Amino acid sequence: MELKISRLSKTYANGVQALRDVSLTIPRGMYGLLGPNGAGKSTLMRTLATLQEADSGSVFLDELNVLAQKDEVRKTLGYLPQEFGVYPKVSAEDLLDHFAVLKGIINGRERREVVRALLEQTNLYEARKKKLGGFSGGMRQRFGIAVALLGNPRLIIVDEPTAGLDPAERVRFLNLLSELGENSIVILSTHIVEDVSELCSRMAIINQGEILLEAEPLRAIDSLSGRVWKKILTRDELPAYERDYRVISTKLLAGRILIHVHGETQPDASFDPVDPDLEDVYFTAMAGLRSGEAALSGAEAAS
Ligand code: ADP
Repeated sequence: MELKISRLSKTYANGVQALRDVSLTIPRGMYGLLGPNGAGKSTLMRTLATLQEADSGSVFLDELNVLAQKDEVRKTLGYLPQEFGVYPKVSAEDLLDHFAVLKGIINGRERREVVRALLEQTNLYEARKKKLGGFSGGMRQRFGIAVALLGNPRLIIVDEPTAGLDPAERVRFLNLLSELGENSIVILSTHIVEDVSELCSRMAIINQGEILLEAEPLRAIDSLSGRVWKKILTRDELPAYERDYRVISTKLLAGRILIHVHGETQPDASFDPVDPDLEDVYFTAMAGLRSGEAALSGAEAAS
């Protein structure tokens, strides 16, 4: 099973080019699409979910032409949009039952079983009689996943699902998602690096409609090893370092500034080596560093 996106482009009527020649091959499992706000993630997700048109390019889910055979795709698609409305006065069980009918599960007994299993899977069975208006953000997102899973989709798309969740809810939600990747393609779009590092076996980084990097997170981290250096500065020193070094990130640390710098060798003795993590991969890609890209794509090519 494979989702193959080839040269997908989209320009909105206002002239914003949201997707530029996007090509990705997405296998079974959890796939992270990582990028800042406005990068084009939702545009790509909505296009894959057959909700909007691209200007050019193609998408195939195995033999299925996603952009042309929309009805066929919808039968095997689970989509959790960035924002979705619920009927606040209806219980979780009743609304899920209603969506199950819409999904074509008309046999009452079968439907009761499906609804019960999904409520259990999303850890909402105890809250099944509760009105959705009283659900927390995390419960609502888990309910969204229960709806998305109706009909055993092969392709599951979740758009920025952890935004607005508190840390405990986020962990519970990510654990739920991680179980789904075994039998389906799950695409998770997010601007949160940890969502990807904790969960995804493959990922792409997107910015301004363009794919900057497609990689396995662990390999991408490995290939940065020995190339990231850190130093703590005062605020006044920062501009000179930004001019003279390839600064990939800056972080405020107890009133001073921690910088990470990309370099094939130690810039000077005042820098310490960093054990890189996915955040360094992300910022290196976002900074558009040539050597970083070359190093990363070289590692990919060797795989
Ligand atoms: P993300 O999901 O990564 O935040 P989006 O796909 O929502 O990114 O947006 C990508 C770019 O397209 C942004 O510049 C956004 O302002 C623009 N955009 C999104 N939807 C529309 C639309 N319907 N009309 C015009 N511009 C849009």
